[in-house]
Amino acid sequence: MPEFEPVIGLEVHTELNTASKVFCDDPTVFGAEPNTQVSPISLGLPGVLPVLNRAAFEKALKTAIALGCEIPERTTFDRKHYYYPDLPKNYQISQQYEPLGTKGAVDIHLKDGSTKTIRINNIHLEEDAGKLIHPDTPAARGLSWVDLNRAGMPLLEIVTEPDIDTLEELEVFMQTLRSILRYLDVSDCKMQEGSLRFELNLSMRPVGAKELGTKTEVKNVGSIKAVLRAARYEIKRQSELLEAGERVIQETRLWDDDRGETRSMRSKEVAKDYRYFPDPDLPAVRISADWMGRIRAELPELEDAKRRRFVAEYGIPEYDAGVLATDRALADYFETCCRMHASPKAFSNWIMVELLRELQNREMEIEDCPLTAPRLAELVRMVEQGTISNNIAKDVLKEVMETNESPARIVESKGLSQVSDEAALLAVVHEVIAANPGPAQDVREGKEKALGFLMGQVMRKTQGKANPGVCKALLERELGSG
Ligand code: ADP
Ligand code: MG
Repeated sequence: MPEFEPVIGLEVHTELNTASKVFCDDPTVFGAEPNTQVSPISLGLPGVLPVLNRAAFEKALKTAIALGCEIPERTTFDRKHYYYPDLPKNYQISQQYEPLGTKGAVDIHLKDGSTKTIRINNIHLEEDAGKLIHPDTPAARGLSWVDLNRAGMPLLEIVTEPDIDTLEELEVFMQTLRSILRYLDVSDCKMQEGSLRFELNLSMRPVGAKELGTKTEVKNVGSIKAVLRAARYEIKRQSELLEAGERVIQETRLWDDDRGETRSMRSKEVAKDYRYFPDPDLPAVRISADWMGRIRAELPELEDAKRRRFVAEYGIPEYDAGVLATDRALADYFETCCRMHASPKAFSNWIMVELLRELQNREMEIEDCPLTAPRLAELVRMVEQGTISNNIAKDVLKEVMETNESPARIVESKGLSQVSDEAALLAVVHEVIAANPGPAQDVREGKEKALGFLMGQVMRKTQGKANPGVCKALLERELGSG
């Protein structure tokens, strides 16, 4: 039994997907030539004035509403001071005293079927800093280069309460929050491009204790997998310290993904180190009931609600609904199929098994998939009408992925239509019985397995095109076993 258990809180930064920056109209294209998206405002030159980007604010507000936050009637911006070459003004505009949202919640669903609520302490809008780059070229050796394209990008910070107790909860929380942000269309959440970043706060306490232990904060974790590795590392490191009777030092640590370890970066700063004060350049934003109402009306249905509706409306199992609702595009795809042909369970099977596997193998997004929803609907309809068998349909699906042709066209041009004609199939059945007297006798004696073997032979002779139902009935009739 371990003596200590972890307590985890996350600070989540997500870059909002607006066309321009949060306090000026510089564009926000990712990967642009360094320092090409920098106006005097991004450069922090003296005398410039910030102007709040309405779209960025509304996306932040939408997120706060969706996370069930309390929204104040007014919210304000503050300056957070520190010196670093990627921060040309020497302060970052953020929200310290009157953030946009407080006291929110995210429900996460765990493997054992339980649901847990992770409370959100607050959510606030701020600006991102630039980037330091260290190119490995002779000209740059020993130098830091500064790219300010990212300086001033709209950044939303979501701070959880220390409610996360296990690695499973940590993983599910990160996935759930990411899904919500993508559903809301407020961020593309590409961790590899830094538009979603998690800072891990972790402490250990004696199992069952109420009081929190001393935490460390881990920065520079670039993927959900890396956060989990970093958490596992910190749990072990801190437990060993505590078990040896030593203390954990409160500090900020840096994750080194190559070495798989965290190391001390700096001692923990506290709020007063930042000399926060209200930004005199930015007026308070008043959030009217009207405005709230308008944003609320724009909220899409989120994952949980969709999952429940899919079960109720389409009668598919909880499990299927859960898989389909994890991604908004996937859920939309499923619903489009159902609108074209009313076979929800068939669609959820095809999507979960065949389609998702194809997408994964090809590293393809569903938006780019040649098997569009109308095409899958066509395929399923052909199976249900008996035009093709289930097995042939799987081949047709692969063919659609390869050739970007419609299923009907592939079935027609390859002559894949199923043979249901009794007279035609009876001839094959007779041939198969004659050629396999042993198994035929077994079937007469009631051995199920032998019937499967004979079915397989008929399928082989017809290149899989025999209608299995008709074929089975004929075999049973001829062998007097049905
Ligand atoms: P700081 O002032 O050090 O930044 P905050 O109170 O702002 O601390 O909390 C930052 C994050 O750390 C939050 O997500 C919070 O839930 C989490 N946190 C706070 N205390 C602890 C602790 N003892 N153990 C684990 N996480 C903690
Ligand atoms: Mg903090």
